[in-house]
Amino acid sequence: MFHVAALGELLIDFTPVGLSNAKNPIFEQNPGGAPANVLALVSKLGKKTAFLGMVGQDQFGLFLKEVLEKNNINVSGLKISEKFQTTLAFVHLDKSGDRTFSFYRNLGADMMLNASDVNYEVIKEAKIFHFGSVSMTEEPVRAASIKAAMFATENGSIISFDPNYRPLLWSSVEEAKKIIGIGVKLADILKVSEEELELITGKIDVAVGADMLFREGVKVVLVTLGKRGCYYKYTGGEGYVDGYAVNAIDTTGAGDAFLGAFLYQICDMKMDELCGLNKNDFKRIIDFSNAAGALATTRTGAIPALPSIDEIHNIRLTR
Ligand code: ATP
Repeated sequence: MFHVAALGELLIDFTPVGLSNAKNPIFEQNPGGAPANVLALVSKLGKKTAFLGMVGQDQFGLFLKEVLEKNNINVSGLKISEKFQTTLAFVHLDKSGDRTFSFYRNLGADMMLNASDVNYEVIKEAKIFHFGSVSMTEEPVRAASIKAAMFATENGSIISFDPNYRPLLWSSVEEAKKIIGIGVKLADILKVSEEELELITGKIDVAVGADMLFREGVKVVLVTLGKRGCYYKYTGGEGYVDGYAVNAIDTTGAGDAFLGAFLYQICDMKMDELCGLNKNDFKRIIDFSNAAGALATTRTGAIPALPSIDEIHNIRLTR
């Protein structure tokens, strides 16, 4: 049994770490991909997880497999391709400190995952199935993601979806909206940023946008608001839960930590139970998730920045 199985991109992020003697940028090899970040936190907090996706049979792919294993994430659904190479991305910091990306993903292994490559036995064992839209930008992984999510639905798993919209990876905004819409329709639990909510619904007001998605059938809508915390909407009500004041130095992966913490807390529940929680209990789940997201911003990187259960408990005691 797996509490959470996640399908999606697994790649190398080369992050800038300074300049060489010749004043050329030096990049550090880091694991990248939101679904694995989410799983890494669920595992760190003590639940069973599994990853589904594809890397190349190269040094990068083997490094990524090792990272998953070190983080106690089951890799029986990780395909190692002899044909395609591991996807690479370079992160650049512009003069104002903002991040931009260069993706090397043409025929990248993560994107070349076919529906027939997916390990459905892993999904059968999953209480929660999580995916995002980075694995829906192009075929064949788009069809693989949709088929896997539909299989998980039929299997009775709770479906979690985080669009993680990366404009550079889409041929057009219209295409992104259309395909992300498919993910939203499949989702029981949807985590979005304000920008993603506006992209999907056309609404700037979070309450209006969240309500629209709820009426369309999403059972739990979570709109993460950076340091301001989260807006939620579910059967039992809606509202804001304030974020934690921390000394944020790197917000990479804060959303993944938030969602990992949320899924960790609900992975022994049925969807009906979650929807039936009273508002205070539901808000406590969000508060725990806000604490995890906030702590993740206090360290650099994604997986290395994930908090422990004690750190989450301790910061919550400050409230
Ligand atoms: P990303 O895609 O970069 O991981 P996101 O847009 O999905 O991020 P955010 O809203 O940035 O998600 O962050 C998720 C959660 O983490 C927030 O809801 C909040 O609880 C916490 N968080 C993020 N940034 C901060 C911050 N600067 N201070 C405190 N908490 C933060």
